[in-house]
Amino acid sequence: MTIQQKIQLLRNELNTHNYNYYVLDKATISDFDFDIKLKELEKLEKENPTFFDANSPSQRVGGTITKNFETITHKNRMYSLDNSYSKEDLIDWEKRVQKLLGTTETEYTCELKFDGASINLTYENGNFVKAVTRGDGFQGDNVTSNIKTILSIPLTPKEDFVSNFEMRGEIILPIDGFNKMNEERVLNGEEEYRNPRNTASGSLKLQDSSEVAKRPLDCFLYQVVTEERKYKTHFESLENARKVGFKVPRTISLAKSIDEVFDFVNIWETKRHDLPYETDGVVIKVNNLQQQEELGYTAKAPRWAIAYKFKAEQVSTVLHEITYQVGRTGAITPVANLEPVQLAGTTVKRASLHNADQIKKLDIRLKDTVFVEKGGEIIPKIIAVDFTKRPGDSEATIYATNCPECNTLLSRTEGDAKHYCLNEFGCAPQITGRIQHFISRKAMDIDGLGGETVDLLRKHGLIQNYADLYDLSVEQIIPLERMAKKSAQNMIDGILKSKEIPFEKVLFALGIRFVGETVAKKLVKSFKSIDNLMVADLEALIAVDEIGDRIAQSILEFSSNQENIQLINRLSASGLQLEVSAESLENQTDLLKGQIFVVSGVFHQLSRTELKKAIEDNGGKVSSSISKKTNFIVAGDNMGPSKLTKAQDLGLEIISEQDFIDKIS
Ligand code: AMP
Ligand code: ZN
Repeated sequence: MTIQQKIQLLRNELNTHNYNYYVLDKATISDFDFDIKLKELEKLEKENPTFFDANSPSQRVGGTITKNFETITHKNRMYSLDNSYSKEDLIDWEKRVQKLLGTTETEYTCELKFDGASINLTYENGNFVKAVTRGDGFQGDNVTSNIKTILSIPLTPKEDFVSNFEMRGEIILPIDGFNKMNEERVLNGEEEYRNPRNTASGSLKLQDSSEVAKRPLDCFLYQVVTEERKYKTHFESLENARKVGFKVPRTISLAKSIDEVFDFVNIWETKRHDLPYETDGVVIKVNNLQQQEELGYTAKAPRWAIAYKFKAEQVSTVLHEITYQVGRTGAITPVANLEPVQLAGTTVKRASLHNADQIKKLDIRLKDTVFVEKGGEIIPKIIAVDFTKRPGDSEATIYATNCPECNTLLSRTEGDAKHYCLNEFGCAPQITGRIQHFISRKAMDIDGLGGETVDLLRKHGLIQNYADLYDLSVEQIIPLERMAKKSAQNMIDGILKSKEIPFEKVLFALGIRFVGETVAKKLVKSFKSIDNLMVADLEALIAVDEIGDRIAQSILEFSSNQENIQLINRLSASGLQLEVSAESLENQTDLLKGQIFVVSGVFHQLSRTELKKAIEDNGGKVSSSISKKTNFIVAGDNMGPSKLTKAQDLGLEIISEQDFIDKIS
């Protein structure tokens, strides 16, 4: 046997033992013998560095230190899930799904919703290459070296699967392991961890991977993302993933109808308490992968899946005080300050009361006993007041009239649920909040500058608004508390680098009320530059698809304000991207302006995403369902038969992928 063969043999052997133990829960070797083999492998690898392999079992013990986790853009966005709370919600969902698909032939998978941290594992040519956290769904942190220490994740899955794919899953911390960790912390006089979910996600961001290796983390896989069309259903793809070594929970089950889905829900609503890990619901997915593609995504979540949340736990406690928070846009949020109470593994002290109407609706008063509920990651909510416990001297709550921070009289416009403090340029939390929003990841993504630093800079009078950031110098920052030369330099570098951030993100970063990411994109597409946008009138604004009166008014308020005009001029002088770059204009035309497309079936030259992008880049609009308004159906192979009938009934024009490509070239 050559050395190479010997190394390979040991690797295979160790991988198999790991798999048996961590995935199948079956010990097939003693710890002692495992260690001997591992040492032997390590020795051979050390003596023969040419055979190094980053995916060898010897590379899973941890040891790498990561100071800053690299940000990586997901190849395929990691969406959230829409939630449902009742059987009726699920029936409605099925109706929507079947309407969009134009068929009643649908089948579902039911899976438990694991409560941990989601992870995206990338495999190329059958080998593990990287692990990235969900982050904001568009980009996350590269936590590869930490993830490698989780031994139930195969780095070299068996063959006979797709070769290039992403595996999506949930990193969880079993309750037992969590309790053990806490026992140890108590012994060491340290504060206990709050709950398994936060601890699992915190573990992924530890700098020392050998610390991660010590934690009993596990990973359940629930989705295969690939362009290879080897499997026809979600269920089949997961069953095969399990066969090649992934830990796919055996609780997954098929359902032919919503009734069957509900059987699954009913069983697990109680049985989940016997599981060794936490779950907070069930995830229902359309099983057929082509149907999944047909259904696509909303701005937030897949249309082909929905989460059913288990009933949230409730407790009652006493309301001590209502305080008011001022957001970056001046919006006021009333907050209930409660007698601390344990709820679903965490201590609850505060709950949002949303707005004045909510307070009125609940008729909530100081000293009331209230019911608090918490489901998953949602901020605790006050459900109702226990009127039987209301003290006799209680008085109705009077909503704040003035801003708690700057004392300006609050204002509320007809139809708006929230009160606002309009003292935009003089109200501290608004000033800081706007700058914090400006530097945040989805906006200017300025590395090396966090929320606390913004406060510090403001306190020292170095910045009053986001335009001031671009006039900062290293020399000004170094004298501040806790600022080393290196971090000051990092901060300035981060600020300079943000000048390359594309216009749509800059526009979002400006923090114009109601201009979120999607609206910013739409505005950029129509107006192309900040100069055009700043002079746009009401008519021009509402002419943009999906921009209504409310958004348009808010933009007009922004663009007519002298202070804002000055800010924009300064940002422009500092060299920020305030217009669409030439490159992104290049592939954009008005060829399909005003035309509505529905895309259906399987395509060959373009992926479905590319096809949709091409439609939008050329001024067209993609719709998910066929109606009289539809102009063209781009039909690939296997277009749904009832969609076809509907299109024909309406006399719509059906074109092929090639016809479409001809249209835009
Ligand atoms: P949410 O965070 O409420 O939007 O729910 C989406 C998250 O649920 C995903 O990012 C996953 O991390 C998590 N999740 C847990 N179990 C599953 C499952 N079986 N299928 C899909 N997502 C799941
Ligand atoms: Zn104020």
